[in-house]
Amino acid sequence: MTTKPDLQRQFFDMLMESQSWSPTSLLEYQRGQLSQLIIHAKKQVPFYATRLDAVIGQDGGINWDRWSKIPILTRKDMTERGDELLARSVPQAHGQRTMSRTSGTTGAAITLSSTQLAQVALNANRFRSYRWNQMDWAKDICSIFGDNPTQATFPNGARLGSWGPPWDPASAAGELWQINRFTSNEDVLKFMERIKPAYLGTGPKTAQALALEAERLGVSIKFDVFLPQGSMLGQLERETMQRVFGAHTAELYSSKEAGQLAHGCPSGEGLHVNAETVLVEILDEYGKPASVGQSGRVIVTPFYNSAQPLIRYEQGDIAQWMPTCGCGRTLPKISGLIGRSTGIFYHPDGRARAAYLRMADRQLLGASEWQISQTGPHLFEVRYVPVDWQIVGDEAAIATRIRAAYFEDAEVRFVRVVGIEPGPNGKIAEYVNNWLPRQATPRS
Ligand SMILES: [Zn+2]
Repeated sequence: MTTKPDLQRQFFDMLMESQSWSPTSLLEYQRGQLSQLIIHAKKQVPFYATRLDAVIGQDGGINWDRWSKIPILTRKDMTERGDELLARSVPQAHGQRTMSRTSGTTGAAITLSSTQLAQVALNANRFRSYRWNQMDWAKDICSIFGDNPTQATFPNGARLGSWGPPWDPASAAGELWQINRFTSNEDVLKFMERIKPAYLGTGPKTAQALALEAERLGVSIKFDVFLPQGSMLGQLERETMQRVFGAHTAELYSSKEAGQLAHGCPSGEGLHVNAETVLVEILDEYGKPASVGQSGRVIVTPFYNSAQPLIRYEQGDIAQWMPTCGCGRTLPKISGLIGRSTGIFYHPDGRARAAYLRMADRQLLGASEWQISQTGPHLFEVRYVPVDWQIVGDEAAIATRIRAAYFEDAEVRFVRVVGIEPGPNGKIAEYVNNWLPRQATPRS
């Protein structure tokens, strides 16, 4: 039997090859994985007893042309029918099951179940992204995390051992250092001056605050790569990491439910989907696959989640496909701008729109941060933090952009603010619907 470290290495080796597979080979591989998942789900998971019948033929084969007939799985389904989503048993090769509970700050708690194989897939994706960013597992990571103020305290932090692939002897030299989230920025900076990490892992807002404090104190700390955790980061944080720490950002798009979905392309813009471990669909306002450059809802189907199959799960984000990447990786690429589904705007006539304005638009307005909110059937409000309070940007041009991007009869108000309140999840949502006739279920 293959042991876990061997399997981990095999999986990683496959991903290093499959990232340049032809679209036909990738599709074939995905369908192979999806077929197994669908057959397993129908047999072992009460929730799917009949739900997948639209795609399962008389002979047990899958009719891929009917894929879109499978209903979208929502977070509401998970909160209300979570137990029905748990498999009675999982294939032996998928290893032990794990259970965890996630209590969303906005939604009801949900139970998540996973397998060892899903963890192996997650690790392999992680190692691949480290490799994309030319990270050296013999070097150290400083990670600011943990909500226990008595653990991983200043000045010593905690040493959590190596973080690289277990099969590579170089990993033994690399250390993962932890310092808890209650440590003051000043102390975190002292800690980093001492351990001199090559990489920093923490939430984007924490990193942003740390960088501003370093600037204020005149502390010069450099490291190579910033590993954002927990949420997508904006242009502002990316630029700050570069300016203050000289660090490049390795972007990650992940969720508690579906694991690691996509990693930033090291060549620049966008994120490559981990298409060997998850099917990502982007659907337009009519539920049809969105074309390149068109915004839509992200729907995911992780392949290895046999303990709790999520088949066509509404991730709660908005993204766009980008054109084929020039970096040589053939994995589909999505825009790095991921918005929450709560940023879907609705017209009283039933039309729904989810589109991004461009970074250039925000600059035209002279805003460092902004939030575009639907506040009434026809009313939109743009709240923004001016870079310079003496200068009023081109509000008329932005109003025109909003009418073009969303609804031609939109009325747009501008409100200059000193700061934008983060949402219940601690993140600033750039697109919010405060009118909400048909708001998607919030999630953590
Ligand atoms: Zn690329």
